[in-house]
Amino acid sequence: MNRFVTAATAAIVSFGLAGGAVAGVTEEDLLNDAATPGDVLTNGMGRDLQRYSPLDTLNKDNIQNLFPAWAFSFGGEKQRGQETQPLIYDGVMYVTGSYSRMYAIDLKSGEELWQYDARLPEGILPCCDVINRGGAIYGDNIYFGTLDARIVALDLKTGDVKWNKKIADYKEGYSYTAAPLIVNGLVITGNSGGEFGIVGEVQARDAETGDLVWTRPVIEGHMGTLNGEESTMTGTLNATWPGDMWKTGGGATWLGGSYDADTDTLVFGTGNPAPWNSHLRGAGTPSEGNTGDNLYAASRLGIDPATGEIKWHFQTTPREGWDFDGVNEVVSFTDKDGNKRYATADRNGYFYVLNREDGAFVNATPFVSNITWAEGIDETGRPIFVEDARPGNPLEADKGEMVFSVPSFLGGKNWMPMAHSQKTGMFYVPSNEWGMDIWNEPISYKKGAAYLGAGFTIKPIFESHIGSLKAIEPETGDIKWDFQNDAPLWGGVMTTAGGLVFFGTPEGEFIALDDETGEKLWSFQTGSGIVGQPVTYEFEGEQYVTIVSGWGGAVPLWGGEVAKKVNYLNQGGTVWTFKLPKQLAMAN
Ligand code: CA
Ligand code: CA
Repeated sequence: MNRFVTAATAAIVSFGLAGGAVAGVTEEDLLNDAATPGDVLTNGMGRDLQRYSPLDTLNKDNIQNLFPAWAFSFGGEKQRGQETQPLIYDGVMYVTGSYSRMYAIDLKSGEELWQYDARLPEGILPCCDVINRGGAIYGDNIYFGTLDARIVALDLKTGDVKWNKKIADYKEGYSYTAAPLIVNGLVITGNSGGEFGIVGEVQARDAETGDLVWTRPVIEGHMGTLNGEESTMTGTLNATWPGDMWKTGGGATWLGGSYDADTDTLVFGTGNPAPWNSHLRGAGTPSEGNTGDNLYAASRLGIDPATGEIKWHFQTTPREGWDFDGVNEVVSFTDKDGNKRYATADRNGYFYVLNREDGAFVNATPFVSNITWAEGIDETGRPIFVEDARPGNPLEADKGEMVFSVPSFLGGKNWMPMAHSQKTGMFYVPSNEWGMDIWNEPISYKKGAAYLGAGFTIKPIFESHIGSLKAIEPETGDIKWDFQNDAPLWGGVMTTAGGLVFFGTPEGEFIALDDETGEKLWSFQTGSGIVGQPVTYEFEGEQYVTIVSGWGGAVPLWGGEVAKKVNYLNQGGTVWTFKLPKQLAMAN
């Protein structure tokens, strides 16, 4: 593994300080992040979000020798869903906690170096627990978003605030929980709040000053900006939305995005159109001419990082009516035939492969069982809707016809990121098999209030399990194996050149599976439910693995009958760090 360390060192010398522009972490370091296991600078372990480590020191033969090195408690009374991914740089771990907290921890000892607690105002409106999904490192700063819809730059060494900027007004229902993305010196953020009739947007700021460079709203009819001036309108006004519904059209970009350096494209997903009641967003009279597809909600967007212009779009669920947000991460990869592709596993239960040049549809296959709302995906990538499976129009009664729908609104897959192995070529997708009763209700927009027009309750569909980690071959969509879990899976996945697939369960187990068979090779009970994202890295010649444990997130709040089933799980907030001691690395 020494060649990776050498490459990282060389990159810092030739592109960092020698370049003179930026001290500390450079664009070149971010570009190489996936291949340099001495640090983890980006969410996704590389901006293509593969979550694949080239480290093979720890492998199937010696995983039994992986032991805890240290544990760190977030402390306080704020033990809520810990969905974060730690970052590793220059002997320090940077990790965010619930309630918009950031910690710097000594990588060797596990001691705290500094802590930053955002002062959150009364009246914030996070929909799905007080979570945070991680930071981003660039230059001498670490960046992260706060629940009051702000983005903060902190000094890496001291935790002092360099700048603190408002993304949007939390009183309107906006918040921010995703890890920021850094490309060419720009800090790129989305927004949260899709259940409050907000408008999804992507923003780019100068990393040094925090000044806005461009904004790109994602719902048609809204105007973008570039360098403080209006740039272009998103889409075409009233092409796919009736009347004024686009003004509060949702499409929150709440999971952040990825960056495909090969095509110089930001890829962001967009959430549900608002409100949930799709009958209010349908096509109008023929003279109005709109299609009712509600662009660009429930879509993936390719965006030019320099200007914020939309290069392409792919809509997973036109006139979405089940809360199938289209935000899920888009992973750049090269398939077995050498084609450059994107893969994304949607809330709607289908696994999509797209072309990286233009976002064009390649194929889609179901990755969960018993899907009710569509018969399949046609050759253009559009769902073949089952019209009776759409919740009914609440025309005269106060409640439309209820339907039972699979997946549930929390999705065949929710926010929790999948991983792609360059070794096996497969995707490891954390999925959930569940359904819901859903019905529509009348609704009108009120600033800062929930804007759903729907009621729902989630139910299991199998006795045996809800959670299902699946190994999927992207060329065919074939599911090679699955690992079933009683509770819904809600944490991220990571895979390694050592042939391991890491993830955690709400029951608290941190698990390593065999990447080819799905066999459980190792596990460790962390004492609270895992909804975090694992990382691995090399430090002082040894391989480490870290996961944050702390149950919470959307399931206990919104899970209906499933929430009752898992209400025995304990909350928490602990960073668990494991290592393979050098003297045991060769042992079997
Ligand atoms: Ca790295
Ligand atoms: Ca949503």
